[in-house]
Amino acid sequence: MVIIMSIDKLEEEVEKLQDEMELLEENCDSLDICKEDDGCSKCDAFKKMEAINLKIEEIENKIEELTAATEEED
Ligand SMILES: [Zn+2]
Repeated sequence: MVIIMSIDKLEEEVEKLQDEMELLEENCDSLDICKEDDGCSKCDAFKKMEAINLKIEEIENKIEELTAATEEED
């Protein structure tokens, strides 16, 4: 069914974003600026991570909506 397929796709997307997050986190940990207090508020990796976090949240909301929609059909 179409809805189930798109849920799978969205979950794949979330996994990809989470992989990206992990790479950024490693990158972030290796930066000198991030060893300072509050350093991460200035680092690029952190900004990117925040953006990815938002995306993941959006996608997870969508997955929830779609899941609810499929359950209603039963
Ligand atoms: Zn950082």
